[in-house]
Amino acid sequence: MENQTHTALERSGRPGSALCRSCGHPLTTTFVDLGMSPLCESILPAGRLNDMEPFYPLHVYVCDSCLLVQLEEYVTPESIFCDYAYFSSYSTSWLEHSRRYVDAMVERLGLNSGSHVVEVASNDGYLLQYFLPHGIVPLGIEPAANVAREAEDKGVPTLVEFFTTELARRLVGEGKAADLIIGNNVLAQVPDLHDFVGGLEALLRPGGVVTLEFPHLLRLIEENQFDTIYHEHFSYFSLVAVERVFAAHGLAIYDVDELGTHGGSLRVYLRHAGEGSVPATPAVTALRQRESERGLADLSGYLSFGPRVERTKRKLLNFLIEAKEQSKSVAGYGAPGKGNTLLNYCGIRTDFLDYTVDRNPYKWGMFLPGTHVPVYAPERLAETRPDYVLILPWNLKDEIMTQLEYVRAWGGRFVVPIPEVQVL
Ligand SMILES: [Zn+2]
Repeated sequence: MENQTHTALERSGRPGSALCRSCGHPLTTTFVDLGMSPLCESILPAGRLNDMEPFYPLHVYVCDSCLLVQLEEYVTPESIFCDYAYFSSYSTSWLEHSRRYVDAMVERLGLNSGSHVVEVASNDGYLLQYFLPHGIVPLGIEPAANVAREAEDKGVPTLVEFFTTELARRLVGEGKAADLIIGNNVLAQVPDLHDFVGGLEALLRPGGVVTLEFPHLLRLIEENQFDTIYHEHFSYFSLVAVERVFAAHGLAIYDVDELGTHGGSLRVYLRHAGEGSVPATPAVTALRQRESERGLADLSGYLSFGPRVERTKRKLLNFLIEAKEQSKSVAGYGAPGKGNTLLNYCGIRTDFLDYTVDRNPYKWGMFLPGTHVPVYAPERLAETRPDYVLILPWNLKDEIMTQLEYVRAWGGRFVVPIPEVQVL
């Protein structure tokens, strides 16, 4: 109810009237303003190209009080996720990351066929499938029905729902309290943080463990990853800010891994506060210290980000203008959400980028939101032999350049836009 009121105020042209979703303080300090953008996953079929498209602000604030970096909830998760086109299983390196995680957790926590494992936002079962060979039948929770069906096909039971405190209590009532709760790349997408984290606490058995992975704000800032900002990501977490959210619900971080995934993520390990005789690991203390040294414990580390993003836009446009002046052709690789933020913010349409390709057949024949860049199957690259291939999912650039080695046969080169424009 409160949220709706603040959204209305924001839309009535009074920016800064929204309140922090973690601590309730009014949001007045800009982190970065990427202008107006369509929803990044609202890819268009040909028949809708002439329709009006909704654009929403990508204006990110940092809370002066608790330092949570956040975007106003302009659109409800229901309207974003119900026919969500992202299938995790199309990235080979992400699958490998998931398999290694499962094997490590089974060993570390001594999980067996009697253990309850729940993944929140389980997508197409890309991760939970790896519990099956261990004799563990996990439970997935995934709001997008089309994606959940893919999980069921893999043998992963999946509830088509959003995770809430209410759902957690229902599961506990059914005897499904969890020994391990997994949430990968979901925390940023939760508009009601307190309800979600309260649900984790409610679902977790005494002695159980929650692991959450989310992109690390420190890396976003240091590596200029502004294109990972989109409407679906409501919050951008530092360790400092996220610990406050968990602490409010009796959960404590006792270990943390820094991961290379999604441009640099944290995996935090949570337990009920006060549980366990072992103190938090030195990794937690060290990371807190590092964030503090980089200015994330006060406003100083947040204020130079916006100007750097504007410089990056100018550099990318300079490269593209130069290439076009020389009659070079440029095609894209990938159609990820981050690509849409980048292309819309920089105003890159088919005047600069002829088309993009993607491995996901769901996207073939469709058009990117806002920019209307067409998406084809990867074979298109060999047919048209572009001079440059702009890699939109730059976090997977090594994997992609290996897959596309054949581009070099006709003298094609790869371009990565982030952290700075680079021709490889
Ligand atoms: Zn706050």
